[in-house]
Amino acid sequence: MTGGVRTVTLLLLASLASCVTACSGAGEAAMGSSDEELVLAQRCERDFGAPLRAKVSKARAALERSPTRFGAEVRGELDAGRVKVLPFCAMTSDHFEHFRKDVDLSAFGATPDEQRRRLRAGETRGMRSVHTQVYGYQWDDHVYIASNMSQELTLETLGHETRHVLRRAHERNFNDQRVTCVEELEAARAEVLIHKDTLTATEERALLDRVHDLYELDKLASGSCGY
Ligand SMILES: [Zn+2]
Repeated sequence: MTGGVRTVTLLLLASLASCVTACSGAGEAAMGSSDEELVLAQRCERDFGAPLRAKVSKARAALERSPTRFGAEVRGELDAGRVKVLPFCAMTSDHFEHFRKDVDLSAFGATPDEQRRRLRAGETRGMRSVHTQVYGYQWDDHVYIASNMSQELTLETLGHETRHVLRRAHERNFNDQRVTCVEELEAARAEVLIHKDTLTATEERALLDRVHDLYELDKLASGSCGY
């Protein structure tokens, strides 16, 4: 977890959104909850999807200009659609079930249904809370990234979350601190490897210490991902 490119899903949202205006009047009998869904999708795309897409597009261009081995891999995954980047408000219901266990969503309300609805609506207070807790979140081939970050942080988060996708982190047991340590260390290394091809021993050690600290891995021996 910390902090991806959308292709098919966002294009679909965009086409649905255009239908809200272009197709109003059609199917009035079906108005109601599905109509509200379209409005939410339109707002999500306008306020979070489009700004995020612009940053990811710039990040991709930066990877092309100054390629590293890992950077080229990330670009390849994005271009092939094997990593799908979305804003948090476009989260699927399946992914939300995992997300709500990992992130405090109380700023969106008390119940999961309310939290999901208000996350989809992109309500300001709740989104601010999410964005302060996580830069990004990965599940399957989906990467959800905060849309309010600097270009640099967006690029690094893209590297971090893509590493999780490549290692299928969602299939691993993060209740085991050794697993969290290995996976988050790999993802933290990816944030650097997107800028340059090698890390010094000092940098490696600093990343390991940061992972221990950030994920509160108090059962692990200092300087290692083991007990
Ligand atoms: Zn992570």
